[in-house]
Amino acid sequence: MSELMPAAFIGHGNPMNALDHNRYTEAWTTFGASIPKPKAVLVISAHWYVNITAITAMTCPRTIHDFYGFPQPLFEVEYPAPGDPELAQRVIDVVEPTYVGLDADSWGIDHGTWSVLVHMFPEADVPVLQLSINAELPFDFHFNLGAKLHELRREGVLILGSGNVVHNLRLIDWHSAGEGKDWAHRFDDATRDIMTSDAAKLGTASAHADYGLAVPTPDHFLPLAYVAGLSAAANTPTTTLIDGYEMGSLSMTAYELAGA
Ligand code: ZN
Repeated sequence: MSELMPAAFIGHGNPMNALDHNRYTEAWTTFGASIPKPKAVLVISAHWYVNITAITAMTCPRTIHDFYGFPQPLFEVEYPAPGDPELAQRVIDVVEPTYVGLDADSWGIDHGTWSVLVHMFPEADVPVLQLSINAELPFDFHFNLGAKLHELRREGVLILGSGNVVHNLRLIDWHSAGEGKDWAHRFDDATRDIMTSDAAKLGTASAHADYGLAVPTPDHFLPLAYVAGLSAAANTPTTTLIDGYEMGSLSMTAYELAGA
């Protein structure tokens, strides 16, 4: 087993990716099969965006169907991976003095997590924890918290950010399957330049002319801040795992931070 578990940011896109098989889900499957089996997966999902930093600490986290208006089969997906309360406590210790609340019963595994993990670890045999994104705190907090998680990679924990670099639901164009608007390309390209050279500069992306269109709210972008923090802590740039665009205003770009 490698000394440093890989980490990744996944552009999860449409919840239907949980049931679909396409080039994105194939890349997630390939990634899961290519790495040493993790002790656990710690996911920072865009969909647990609340006013506190918390970590799930239940033995059997429930599968949360946090969306509306999708076909019934998506509501029937269950991802019965166990939790790991001991590791939750370890996460709290590792990031001290940053406060992280222990979540015994409120959250679980949301679709930002399970729509990816059903492909990455289809057996659901790797324990899953989620770390919430504190919506009240700025980019640097999330970047620095990500860097503090570095130590967990040495302990065999796979850290995943799950969001989308470009995510503007208001501007979705249902006729633009597999395509991105010019501004989406520009912002995604600029982000890729940073992530593949010096992820410590990811905070400068907010000064990009297209940031407002690409990141109208920070929830889907901030999971990338955690992976950028890990990348900086390891002094290793990330590589592109897969990229692409959907419906004009979503980018599906995923980044891998190699193990060592
Ligand atoms: Zn999402």
